[in-house]
Amino acid sequence: QIPGARITVDDLPLRDNLRGKSAYGAPQLKVPVVLNTNENPHPPSPELIADVAESVGAAAAELHRYPDRDAVALRSDLAAYLSAATGTHLGVENVWAANGSNEILQQLLQAFGGLGRAALGFVPSYSMHPIISDGTDTTWLEAKRSADFSLDIDYAVGEISARRPDIVFVTSPNNPTGASISNDGLRAIVDAAPGIVIVDEAYAEFSEQRSAVELIDEFPTKVVVSRTMSKAFAFAGGRLGYLAASPAIVDALQLVRLPYHLSVLTQAAARAALRHADETLGGVAKIIAERKRVVAELEKAGFDVVDSDANFVLFGRFADAPASWQRYLDNGVLIRDVGIPAHLRVTIGLVDENDAFLDVSRKLATTDL
Ligand code: PMP
Repeated sequence: QIPGARITVDDLPLRDNLRGKSAYGAPQLKVPVVLNTNENPHPPSPELIADVAESVGAAAAELHRYPDRDAVALRSDLAAYLSAATGTHLGVENVWAANGSNEILQQLLQAFGGLGRAALGFVPSYSMHPIISDGTDTTWLEAKRSADFSLDIDYAVGEISARRPDIVFVTSPNNPTGASISNDGLRAIVDAAPGIVIVDEAYAEFSEQRSAVELIDEFPTKVVVSRTMSKAFAFAGGRLGYLAASPAIVDALQLVRLPYHLSVLTQAAARAALRHADETLGGVAKIIAERKRVVAELEKAGFDVVDSDANFVLFGRFADAPASWQRYLDNGVLIRDVGIPAHLRVTIGLVDENDAFLDVSRKLATTDL
């Protein structure tokens, strides 16, 4: 018996709004084909690995000192990348970085949410939005997506006007359903919102849609665009998320960020990865081509597939989605049960991985739909 093991969470003086809640928990299983967390399936190139190793090695000589608290060099690189990618000129003052976009979202809720405040999201969407709201004691409000999982803008504007949340989350492309919303739709939502609108663009590099960074100057008190290096940049293990917003919003986040939150090693590794952006992002076209192939093959096998602008697709309709999820796993393919009845989500992988997934899918199509 290890010390303290006789009590459980229920015995602790936990905050009331956290009682009975579940932690984020995408299974991390060792199976041949892992297609469940929307990572980029292409491993880093030998050149990128060498550059990261050399940069981290040089940074290690400074490990006795705290890192640059403001991460200015990294933020400058991110601003240059995002300016080039979106066509909207951004300065270092417009950009803030943290350990994954989850930390970005948490800092935003620490600053603009909290006790007595509310955040509204359109479900189904990214499961961490409500969890981070709970963690920051921000009341979580749900509005719905349409039956086809698109976002009805008139309905969204109506919900925002009626419920007046301090924060609105819009995920575009939306995880786990896949489609994006246009900046015209977004403009109507931001217009109606009384507070901050967080546009979660974790999958933006996979989408044809223009980035919401175009709306920052029009709505400097409201629009925040959250981005990550975890998906298209193939840097999920490096943990680097960032945002673009007005300099005032970046200033506000200084009130809640922990000092030195980005280690000198993270900053050096992320800058090295950014130096190889062209080559890494070259892989995005291959992932999109594979997505189109997977969608076509799934449809041919009799599945319904939700339109996707991202590196994953939601598909169905399963008679019993959790049971089918288990059957994929029994066949060595880990995908995701996101809790949407009759549907499962698959991340687009390498050609061989997608083939393995499609083989199982064709088999299940005859028994599970
Ligand atoms: N936003 C969305 C919509 C996501 O799907 C994810 C990752 N699943 C994140 C944010 C967070 O990713 P990270 O913390 O790795 O940047």
